[in-house]
Amino acid sequence: MDPIFAELPFARCVLGRATVPAALVEGAPEGVEPDRDGLVSVDLELAQGRIARIAPAGALRADLDLGRRMVWPCPVDIHTHLDKGHIWPRAANPDGTFWSALETVRADRERHWKAADVAARMEFGLRCAFAHGTCAIRTHLDNIPPQAAISWPVFAEMRARWHGRIALQAVSLAMLEHYRGPEGRDLADLVAAHGGILGVVPLVGPELDADLDRFFALAIERGLEIDCHVDESLDPGARTLDHLARAAIRHGYRGRILAGHCCSLSTRDPAEVTRTIDLLLEAGIGVVSLPMCNLYLQDRAAGRTPRRRGVTLLHELAAAGVPVMLASDNCRDPFYAYGDHDLWEVFREGVRIAHLDHPIGSWPRALTTVPAQWMGLEGAGRLAVGAPADLVIFEGRAWSEVLSRPESGRTVLRGGRPIDRRLPSYAELDFLFA
Ligand SMILES: [Zn+2]
Repeated sequence: MDPIFAELPFARCVLGRATVPAALVEGAPEGVEPDRDGLVSVDLELAQGRIARIAPAGALRADLDLGRRMVWPCPVDIHTHLDKGHIWPRAANPDGTFWSALETVRADRERHWKAADVAARMEFGLRCAFAHGTCAIRTHLDNIPPQAAISWPVFAEMRARWHGRIALQAVSLAMLEHYRGPEGRDLADLVAAHGGILGVVPLVGPELDADLDRFFALAIERGLEIDCHVDESLDPGARTLDHLARAAIRHGYRGRILAGHCCSLSTRDPAEVTRTIDLLLEAGIGVVSLPMCNLYLQDRAAGRTPRRRGVTLLHELAAAGVPVMLASDNCRDPFYAYGDHDLWEVFREGVRIAHLDHPIGSWPRALTTVPAQWMGLEGAGRLAVGAPADLVIFEGRAWSEVLSRPESGRTVLRGGRPIDRRLPSYAELDFLFA
């Protein structure tokens, strides 16, 4: 922690001259106009762990002058795989391809994923995320039998233990065939019993629409939200996103549906894409992009330089009004060899990969306000009077400064108090790989 924060009176204090993205401020005070980079300069009064006042810079008597350092609300990671994380030392992807990732994870899961193993790696990931400033996470959990019965109780214990530090949600990650018959009903019941979200990886095939009908019926009967991995390829013929949207419309589904990846949209005919986006709007589907994982897996072939970036049509979706989010996805597992559960890294890399700049505009909302609303987290992901004083205070003061360094020295306040930002040592997981 930067020592200047240790001395602050935390029951009530004013942080003076903070630079904040205007897109993250709700109810900006009079006389505060964004500059051409979409940034505003404000004083932030914190009281009893919440934001008590937002005023034009210089209007309040500051306990600490931030000297224009940038401040964000703590970010929200809406698409992760905490159950897969950090298996790399025993399950390296031999060639970095998607199919090797699937096969390597399957073998590791069948051999190693007992409750203690899943719990140790999940805890490690949560500690990394917390130290980096994340305040909420949605994780997918592999629900290929018999893993569901092992991982859901581990998740329930983690959710209880991390309550107040990281709000946790979980999604059942399974194939459509796993929702057929009595086993499918049992799986949906298990998800409902844990307050989870129904997830699936729909794939093209003759049974796709019938399977989606069954899947939606299971969700509707139990009042479950839906979260899917969709078209995670660059195949211009991939159309499961359209099938998913049509199924939602056919069933009059009213809950939230989040579609992850949607990489192949970037390779499809533009006229057809327009129709698909219309379907997404009609069905009320949101899209989460996982830019670092996509860059790693997509357009990969040994000995050939990748040409394409793999990310979905972020600009076109956002312009059309589809809720668009960014998240981290996998960490140190066969689907992504790297990563540290750091949403700041995701934003930095996302800006570079998908040109989310000039202007940066509303893109900071894609890892804060939008996923917080989608997850139903009250007050999170925005700077507003009454919202929790869960803040990330960067060292940089402008986009060209914060986006140029990893910001390892950032300060994180939770409930108005600085947290210990030390990351867990990798050596703590060595016992899993002995
Ligand atoms: Zn994923």
